[in-house]
Amino acid sequence: MKQPHIRTFSYHYREKYGQPIGKIAVDIGHPCPNREKGGCIFCRSASFTPAYLLKTDNITAQIAKGKKSPLKGRFKNYFTYFQQETATAMAAEKLLPICDLALRDSDCIGIIISTRPDYIENEFLSGLASLLESTKKECLIELGVQSAHEKSLTFLNRNHSFEDVRSAVQRIRQYKVFETGAHLIFGIPGENEDDMIATVQKVCGMGINAIKLHHLQVVRDTPLHDMYVRREVRLFSFEEYCQLLLKILPFIPAEVTIHRLCATSHPDILVAPRWNILAATLSKKLMGKMTENGIYQGDKSY
Ligand code: SF4
Repeated sequence: MKQPHIRTFSYHYREKYGQPIGKIAVDIGHPCPNREKGGCIFCRSASFTPAYLLKTDNITAQIAKGKKSPLKGRFKNYFTYFQQETATAMAAEKLLPICDLALRDSDCIGIIISTRPDYIENEFLSGLASLLESTKKECLIELGVQSAHEKSLTFLNRNHSFEDVRSAVQRIRQYKVFETGAHLIFGIPGENEDDMIATVQKVCGMGINAIKLHHLQVVRDTPLHDMYVRREVRLFSFEEYCQLLLKILPFIPAEVTIHRLCATSHPDILVAPRWNILAATLSKKLMGKMTENGIYQGDKSY
């Protein structure tokens, strides 16, 4: 296949497995430890919870509902996505059997774990590596990074440092069975374009395999919402964000899979920016611009 302008999640896994691959989110019901410290200023779990997902259901029921709901017959095979809160804050002896259960489903090709860089325990990594070796399935560990700049991490109330990210990536990469990913936010107050590009270069320089890009969104009843009401936060227009991505995508190596190009908080609780545009529309527009101008992901990565 020729090089894509953007190595999207769907492109990457279709190339790898010859068919579309889905994701089924599960909720293990363990709260994120950062909530005790006030939580990240932008975060409200309802903003990223799919409608079918009830934490009162057990994991088997959540997966069964997920197969009917988001997959809707479009995908047979899927990743089980530990997306809610900070799954790895649960003790390894409790979390590993849940991972095992998810991996044993024959339609499941692997798991994706979304978590904080300061909650990566060696005991969990080694236990999960054994499960992956025995099931011959894959695992991506996605870290909430958001920014490589300490002032931004403090602003967001992340309560971890960028050094925690480096250390987590290093320890995960010691096991060949894992892939690593990073979540980034663009448009954090106080950051300019060069700061955002520097973040992309630093995380990609660590050898990550996947990335999720988000524009800053204001979700109702969060500390960021209060700041927005006080007019302390400026947000991207749709056009500005597209222009930014056209500049940033060339700095992401061509082999890194881009799981997401923008944030998609639930419209019922999204305050701003309200672009009323689907993620697929953004992707299509970007692809069009990149084709027109001969721009490729990875053009400026070294
Ligand atoms: S670490 Fe993640 S789940 Fe926890 S408060 Fe921050 S964004 Fe939300």
